[in-house]
Amino acid sequence: MKVVALAGGVGGGRLAHGLALAGADLTVIVNTGDDFTHLGLRICPDIDSVTYTLAGIANREQGWGVAGETTAAMERIRRLGGEDWFLLGDRDLALHILRTDRLRQGEPLSAVTADIAAKLGITARILPMTDDPVATMVQTPAGELSFQNWFVRRRAEGAVTGFRFDGIEAARPAFGLTEALAAAEAIVICPSNPYVSIDPILSVPGLREAMPKVPVIAVSPIIGGEAVKGPAARLLRELGTEASPVGIADHYGSLLSGMVIDEADAGLAARLRIPVRATKSLMQTDEDRLALARECLDLAGSLAWTS
Ligand code: GDP
Ligand code: CA
Repeated sequence: MKVVALAGGVGGGRLAHGLALAGADLTVIVNTGDDFTHLGLRICPDIDSVTYTLAGIANREQGWGVAGETTAAMERIRRLGGEDWFLLGDRDLALHILRTDRLRQGEPLSAVTADIAAKLGITARILPMTDDPVATMVQTPAGELSFQNWFVRRRAEGAVTGFRFDGIEAARPAFGLTEALAAAEAIVICPSNPYVSIDPILSVPGLREAMPKVPVIAVSPIIGGEAVKGPAARLLRELGTEASPVGIADHYGSLLSGMVIDEADAGLAARLRIPVRATKSLMQTDEDRLALARECLDLAGSLAWTS
């Protein structure tokens, strides 16, 4: 089945990996709102998390970076008085150096991303949401913060009143994105943060319009009232309705045709008013990822004839 997955980093990468294991003909559209320039390097945290996860080289415990990574360069940067709040492993740095160099020579991010993925043996297509610069800004009572400043440096703490995607009005879907969407037989919204991972993707002008009339399945990133990782539950409580699959469904609204939620939340299915599957949704092992992906594909298949 031709599947397009919308993804942030960790939750996105894990389900994308499951979909690849399930044999889907997969294109992953990845958030670039977290991208930033640091120490002169262009860093794309979500693209890299998805890339490392699909390549089977991600650090699973940490949730970011490469497994078995060394930190010699970072230690030297620190010793020399450089900024050290955003940790970069040696192998990870190599990728940022290469990408930055190629972007400077004028290649689009989509081409660089595709090439790196191919070199790492990935068969799925990884597409940035856009080749144009977009920067997620975090709105707080004290003013706006750049995304990584809030997420990493301030550990996503403090009150948030909303998000703004700087540059989004001028952003165009990345090369090949509308074609990939048009060919999709199902669209899967990964269990990524709805506010800072999925909303930027859905805000790229023309992207929603390019979605074909096929089942759109979301997997809840919230299990039993909490996020598996990160601030999604708190943001839902502060900005949305509730930290549950119901809050996620409200957030995406009429875009969704079905939802996969955790078995711990099975009691909420009746409130969702769309077809729901309740299953184990914590993706610890490859088997977990595959089983969850199969549930998504199965639900999409069962809805295909109605859409
Ligand atoms: P980030 O960009 O690296 O922060 O990652 P994402 O936005 O893609 O994913 C973050 C979200 O993934 C969090 O809200 C987590 O609750 C969710 N998440 C991570 N791992 C899992 C998992 O195994 N199962 C489910 N259902 N959600 C997960
Ligand atoms: Ca992210």
